[in-house]
Amino acid sequence: MTTARARTRRRITPAAIAFTAVLLAAAGPAQAGNGSGGKPEYGGGRGGPVNDQVVTTTHQEGQVAALTFDDGPNPLDTPRLLEVLRENHVKAVFCLWGDYVVQNPDLVRQIVAGGHTLCNHTMHHDDLADWSPEAIRADLEETSAAIHAIVPHEDIPYFRAPYGSWGASPQVAAELGMQPLGWAVTIEDWETQDADVLTDRLETRIRQNPGGVVLLHDGPTMDRSGTVEAVARVVPELKAEGWRFVQPAKRG
Ligand SMILES: [Zn+2]
Repeated sequence: MTTARARTRRRITPAAIAFTAVLLAAAGPAQAGNGSGGKPEYGGGRGGPVNDQVVTTTHQEGQVAALTFDDGPNPLDTPRLLEVLRENHVKAVFCLWGDYVVQNPDLVRQIVAGGHTLCNHTMHHDDLADWSPEAIRADLEETSAAIHAIVPHEDIPYFRAPYGSWGASPQVAAELGMQPLGWAVTIEDWETQDADVLTDRLETRIRQNPGGVVLLHDGPTMDRSGTVEAVARVVPELKAEGWRFVQPAKRG
């Protein structure tokens, strides 16, 4: 897609070439060799067909974004986040950390009851870069089983690797019917929880990346009140301008 877009530019400037090179480099080894087509496609689960290309956008043009929240559920900040999303009639994706799923079954039920979409974020948030496909598969299956022990019939259409350290996980996730889910926008909410700083980053970066998947965090490893406050401030403002918050694309 990047190459196709570059090719259709009327004038390929040095800056454009450098930009493309950066994007290709950023794709990293996890995606290298996957090619951009002709890869095996899997039937997938109830969520429909998936493939092993990491999705970073909604595949929609214009004033659209997809909000995703990682590392929960978290009794301190997830309830308030769910309230904010409900008030604004926004559905998001929750990338769940298996240990916290086991500890907070009621929050998993509340996320599902709110109409949000689930994403497998591994059992213990390990870096999968060097893991064998077999070990990855066992972890992802254990995580999905922990979720399904609470919400047996809920689809888990996405998988996100902790730290975006994909290793062999995109292929394994696709085989298990889960679309690998990356992101196009971060606000580095692991660096600060200053609500003013995060509000400015969230608004600015969503505007700069229409159609992008937005990475945010609600997990219990640190305070997340600034992230929640930023969402509470920015979402209604953007919605008033016509922005829509939708699901990430289902296939890379
Ligand atoms: Zn994470």
